[in-house]
Amino acid sequence: MLTSDGILAAVGTRSEMESLPESRSAEKLDLGGRVVLPGFVDSHTHLIHAASRAEEYELKIAGASYEEIARKGGGILNSVKKLRAATAEDLKNRAHLALREFAEYGTTTLEAKSGYGLDVASELKILRLHKELEAEQPLEIVSTFLGAHVVPAEYRSKRGGAERYVGLLRDKLIPEVAARHLAEFCDVFCDRGAFSVSEAKRILEAGKQHGLAPRLHAEQLTRSGATQLAVQLGAASCDHLEQISKADIRALAKSNTVATLLPGCDFHLGLKKYAPARALIEAGAIVALATDYNPGTSPTVSMPMILSLACTQLRVRPAEAIAAATINAAYSLRREKQIGSLEAGKQADIAIFEVDDYREIPYYFGVNKCWMTLKKGQPIFKKAHT
Ligand SMILES: [Zn+2]
Repeated sequence: MLTSDGILAAVGTRSEMESLPESRSAEKLDLGGRVVLPGFVDSHTHLIHAASRAEEYELKIAGASYEEIARKGGGILNSVKKLRAATAEDLKNRAHLALREFAEYGTTTLEAKSGYGLDVASELKILRLHKELEAEQPLEIVSTFLGAHVVPAEYRSKRGGAERYVGLLRDKLIPEVAARHLAEFCDVFCDRGAFSVSEAKRILEAGKQHGLAPRLHAEQLTRSGATQLAVQLGAASCDHLEQISKADIRALAKSNTVATLLPGCDFHLGLKKYAPARALIEAGAIVALATDYNPGTSPTVSMPMILSLACTQLRVRPAEAIAAATINAAYSLRREKQIGSLEAGKQADIAIFEVDDYREIPYYFGVNKCWMTLKKGQPIFKKAHT
């Protein structure tokens, strides 16, 4: 590969590259036969949060379900309480640390959702941090507004509280987020204990009117019908999908809505039912894989670990998993022309692995084989001891 100004100027065999006149003055980087991939595109994360939920982890191991914990004020509302109390500086420092870790595992672009603020000031605080973080470090951050994560506690106690919160999102937050260019996408957690399909529809339509493209958390805990809504609205992505039906699979296969699978959640929660990846792939759906990095259900930054889970638990082949974690994820973020594959004209976003065969990346589960990561041609991570 020949890179110039952060872009892949040419891609081909060694002799083709060496015969190009521009190569004569180029600085050479010998990768010693290692495996080279496009940098991972992690298309679903909850980057900004204040603290882990290790105490809930232990409760889950002892047998409490995710929904039981949520009903007792744990879960998302627990993270909301902690985020509202945290300073922007503390949140930013925590995110910076995570971003460095993402780069160590070969990720070069990630999507980041708000959703642990759930009031005007806190949601805007998170979205502003997405912008600031993008300016302060090399990873590309794609911002999504997830004000519709759950109904916050102060609205739950009011009569018609959920309806009033949906009104706040539609009439105040979505217009403000769009006017300040703080997000590209609008997302809704549509499930039991969160938002209904009709609420999700109203929120996402308001987002669309203000230029925010829809994404959806769909069919994770129950089959709600959110996948059909995602397809109807032309959503960029429909995520989770553990509980989808055959008709949902057919609808996704006929659409350009990406089916984003998050097996880290099921693994961390100890759930046995993973999304039907094989059926989706065989039906012709566009399948992406992402970490869902978040403190409650998937506290990992490791795309290689997600590939391992996809391969062994979802029966996704290694090459399919890599495509899902790169070009398909880039498509779901509407950046398929800039990132997600190693082609001339695209950004030189590259992850290099210390393996002999690409299949060894998921094969060595829980082991980080990433040797070097480049963003726009610049090294952003290099393994220390090799
Ligand atoms: Zn999520």
